Amino acid sequence: MEKNIPELYGSMVFGDKIMREKLPKDMYKALRKTIDNNTHLELDVANAVAVAMKEWAVENGATHFTHWFQPMTGYTAEKHDSFICPVDKGEVIMDFSGKELVKGEPDASSFPSGGIRATFEARGYTAWDPTSPAFIKDETLYIPTAFCSYSGEALDKKTPLLRSMDAISKEAVKILKLLGKEDVTNVLTTVGPEQEYFLIDKEDYKLRKDLIFTGRTLLGAPAPKGQEMDDHYFGNLRTRVAAFMHDLDEELWKLGIPAKTKHNEVAPCQHELAPIFDTTNVAVDHNQLTMEIMKRVAEKHGYACLLHEKPFAGINGSGKHNNWSLTTNTGENLLNPGKTPGENTQFLLFLSAVIQAVDDYADLLRLSVASAGNDHRLGANEAPPAIISMFLGDELNAVIEAVEKGEYFSNAEKVTIETGAKVLPHFAKDTTDRNRTSPFAFTGNKFEFRSLGSSLSIAGPNIMLNTAVAESLSLFYEKLKDTPKEKMDEAVHELVKETITKHKRVIFNGNGYTDEWVKEAEKRGLFNLKSTPDAMPALIAEKNKKMFIKHGIYSETELESRYEIRIENYTKTVHIESLTLIDMVEKQFAPSLMDYIDDLTQSALSKKELGIKAACAAQTELIEKLAGFYDEVVKATKKLVADTDKAESMDPTLDQAKFYHDVVIADMEEIRKYADQAEPLIPEGYLPYPTYEKILFYV
Ligand code: ADP
Ligand code: MG
Repeated sequence: MEKNIPELYGSMVFGDKIMREKLPKDMYKALRKTIDNNTHLELDVANAVAVAMKEWAVENGATHFTHWFQPMTGYTAEKHDSFICPVDKGEVIMDFSGKELVKGEPDASSFPSGGIRATFEARGYTAWDPTSPAFIKDETLYIPTAFCSYSGEALDKKTPLLRSMDAISKEAVKILKLLGKEDVTNVLTTVGPEQEYFLIDKEDYKLRKDLIFTGRTLLGAPAPKGQEMDDHYFGNLRTRVAAFMHDLDEELWKLGIPAKTKHNEVAPCQHELAPIFDTTNVAVDHNQLTMEIMKRVAEKHGYACLLHEKPFAGINGSGKHNNWSLTTNTGENLLNPGKTPGENTQFLLFLSAVIQAVDDYADLLRLSVASAGNDHRLGANEAPPAIISMFLGDELNAVIEAVEKGEYFSNAEKVTIETGAKVLPHFAKDTTDRNRTSPFAFTGNKFEFRSLGSSLSIAGPNIMLNTAVAESLSLFYEKLKDTPKEKMDEAVHELVKETITKHKRVIFNGNGYTDEWVKEAEKRGLFNLKSTPDAMPALIAEKNKKMFIKHGIYSETELESRYEIRIENYTKTVHIESLTLIDMVEKQFAPSLMDYIDDLTQSALSKKELGIKAACAAQTELIEKLAGFYDEVVKATKKLVADTDKAESMDPTLDQAKFYHDVVIADMEEIRKYADQAEPLIPEGYLPYPTYEKILFYV
């Protein structure tokens, strides 16, 4: 039966069409104004919207509503209230007020607040974000909100994201005014996140404590085959996977999430989904929802969806590509090279702003993608290195070099406009190889930040990016603001030239996976922050604090609290991994190995009794080999137990995180080294959990 996808699309979203239908004209206009121009919303409008929303939600089967927010856990949170309101004689009506729409008061005390709670009031409140549409899921009306403390400190990832969008908009509008673009009142950042994930059998998943508790395998030898044949990438979809993807698309479409592209990825069982880009805060909400719906639809199809950055050692992990650009309210993409000299000038100015931002705040961009999970990917020759650099492509690079030398772009004829200023002719979209090894690549009319881990909320990286670019733009404005109109072109080109000369060290078009680049980057003075603990101090570095405070993104207290939360999150993650590994070794791996050794020993003894010589020497050798691995595993586990105890007793500071990284993780690797050598020697049936071979190749 043919499905009407346009009708299905967004059917569970309180979108523009429904608003127009359900709201009185003046109320609709007022709401539109709030959404489009970020203006304050009056209570009478909120009341009207609440009535319309409730009516629509109830018609579509909703019985409850929830403020939906993004606390510092990195997940989303919700608390459902029903619409019922008692009236006379034990009856109820379905009711929902503007007040309930605009503000909620969840008990905030169990969410991470990193010390803010000690200083401020414990309760928090959620505030409606009218720029991200409400939707219905599980018979509940979901209202996207920001989550703050009573004194206004952000307790979530949404609030600073919205602040950063305001900041970059404000600075970009100022610059555009200088360039004569009077009609632009608002600049939006847009994001299209490509999401990678693994699908494995739910039955396999349920047998692996490591996957259940930590999201990744802590033990496991490679299968005879890995990803070396490149036969999975873009390969045809298995029927069962195709059915999953189809279902997933439809679920996402209902929620107005424009899922567009799906394909198999490099590793076995690995796949990718990319939506069409959207305004950043909407893209963030949609990506959180996408991850949630992926897991849920997977369940329905007998799969477990793994979003961890490195579920399996030795084969590629999963990341997320954050495609990012800037669009004016008049519909112009500011990172589009454009066709006219004027457009070129504007493009080069915004391009320079991004180059400067990435160079000046590389440490923050690096920090924004740091997590215990992503530490296993970055720099491991499957994802960009931990060093943040930019790739511009051959053509744009030639332009940049020409600008720096004060020359025209050599491939094209010289163009001069009235002012006599040197201008650049049109250049085409980059057609060169995308250079997958670069963390931050220009891809025609947007930048692609590729260092993000697959499970990460994309809010953090976009906060950093928006703020750093806002800062470049604000410095540019200071330099340009007193320039007379007729001199502007020339001044901009001077500024572009100066910026490129100063920041070109961050541009690298070569292979980012090589050791030569590591050495070269060091010479250039670029950051190489290898692990999460290495990256952490960037969050509270003086230069970064100053920038955040200047643009109103984070207060000093908020930064300190986020620093604490990040450290705690890291140490807790590694701690859980350690306990899980200890548990698996002590209750599963070691006893299984010993069972096998015992069986072999019994068999050897029986042979001896019967006087059979053949196979005895080989068997004894195997027993000794396995017993040797057993001893090493037990020894390493003892050390892990002791070091984990020690780590746990330390104060929750950066030193503790470093100890977890340097000592506890190293201990875990030591166990794995021996266990993974023993595993292929153990016949099927001894281990109570499935091996890589079973998980990855029998789906
Ligand atoms: P790939 O990087 O795999 O070649 P595309 O370049 O087609 O794929 O797009 C990747 C993602 O970039 C998609 O989610 C797409 O919607 C998004 N994208 C395209 N244009 C923009 C833009 N102006 N701003 C943000 N994201 C964009
Ligand atoms: Mg891409």
